[in-house]
Order: sequence, then structure tokens, then C-alpha cells
Amino acid sequence: MSSVFVITGPSGVGKGTLIRALRDLVPGLELSTSATTRRPRAGEADGVDYHFLGRDEFDRRVAEGRFLEHATYSGNSYGTLRSEVEERAARGVPVVLEIELQGARQVRAALPEAVQIFIAPPDPSDLRRRLEGRGSDDEATIEARLAVAEKELAARDEFRHTVVNDDVDRAAAELAAIVEANR
Ligand code: ADP
Ligand code: 5GP
Repeated sequence: MSSVFVITGPSGVGKGTLIRALRDLVPGLELSTSATTRRPRAGEADGVDYHFLGRDEFDRRVAEGRFLEHATYSGNSYGTLRSEVEERAARGVPVVLEIELQGARQVRAALPEAVQIFIAPPDPSDLRRRLEGRGSDDEATIEARLAVAEKELAARDEFRHTVVNDDVDRAAAELAAIVEANR
């Protein structure tokens, strides 16, 4: 049994969308707010979507050992602060981490009891369609994300659980069943 659920998968696969649906299905499930050096997108709020940090502040927290994991993704740093996870886990409050592959591997080493779930697209070509449809990134950013996605898709077999995001309601229900079976 574990309180920590790691959800990973390529950009645009629908992790954020599924986690919103999952939280409606599993009351009490909390979401770790990551830190990043990336700039906020339109509509994103500091402390809600991310803790938006400057480069110096991010690096200071790395040096202080305050991250459970951290990684560079498409030119920016992202990381999970221990403070987002440890106190909740100690209280038995289930917490979801939405992180990329390198971070998921670090959590696997640091917290082997965490439940790791890979979100896969029905077809790799869906990623471009979804990223373009989301409308939040320019063409160069989308290309960079798709290049990373190829490597991420190849790591699918590392994960005990894989959920194909074909339909949001169906995939969210499958995720909820995994969470309920493990918490
Ligand atoms: P991620 O968090 O993995 O980068 P998002 O949750 O932002 O992905 O989803 C990317 C885009 O794909 C969004 O526009 C979202 O509405 C859309 N999307 C998510 N799930 C599905 C699905 N099952 N079918 C079609 N479009 C989807
Ligand atoms: P985005 O810029 O689209 O919000 O996120 C880019 C990538 O960074 C996504 O794959 C997302 O899952 C990942 N990410 C978000 N937060 C973290 C984190 O705390 N740690 C790691 N390693 N990756 C993260």
C-alpha cells in the first residue's frame, strides 16, 4: 500500500486532463505542486499550477536538498519539493505527482513503494494533434516536446501500470481503479 502515485507520459498525452478527472473520482487525492523555471502560460497561477521559481532560487533549493527529484526538460528545470510529498505521505494522505520520465526514475529509486503509472497515447500521432489543439505552445516548443516524447514512449515497459488515454472518462476510471486498489 502506498500514498504516492507517480503519473508520467509524454507531453500532450493528457496527463493534466486525466488527473483533473481522477480527482473528481477519488475524493481526498491531493496533487503535488511542482517547482519550475519555465515561464507561466496564460492563465497559470503561482503556487497553484506550479511554484514558478527563478533559476537562482531553483538551484539554491537543489543545493539545499529540498527536492525529492528534479530534472531538465526542454531547457527548463522541474522538480518535486519534498515538502509537497513527505508530510502528506506520513499522514497517509494520497498524493499524485505528475512528472516526466527522468523524475519518475528518481522517485522509483528513492521511494520504491510509490505506484508508477505511464499514460500512453492511442497512437503516437495523437501527441502532435493534442499539443496543437491545446494551443499553449508555439511550433518550436511543440517540436522539442515531440522529440522528447519519442524517448519517453520507449520507456513504457519500465512501468507496472500503463493506461492508454483513448477516452478521458474511460482512462480516468481505469486510473481511479489503480489508485483504489493500491491506497
Ligand atoms: P499533458 O498534461 O500530458 O501535457 P493535457 O492534459 O494538457 O496533456 O492534454 C493535451 C491536450 O489533449 C488538451 O487540449 C486536452 O484537452 C486534450 N486531450 C486530453 N485527453 C484527450 C483524449 N482522451 N482525447 C482527445 N483529446 C484529449
Ligand atoms: P509543462 O511545461 O507542460 O507543464 O511540463 C513539461 C513536463 O514536465 C511534463 O512532462 C510534466 O509532467 C513534467 N513535470 C512537471 N512537474 C514536474 C516535476 O516536478 N518533476 C519532473 N521531473 N517533471 C515535471
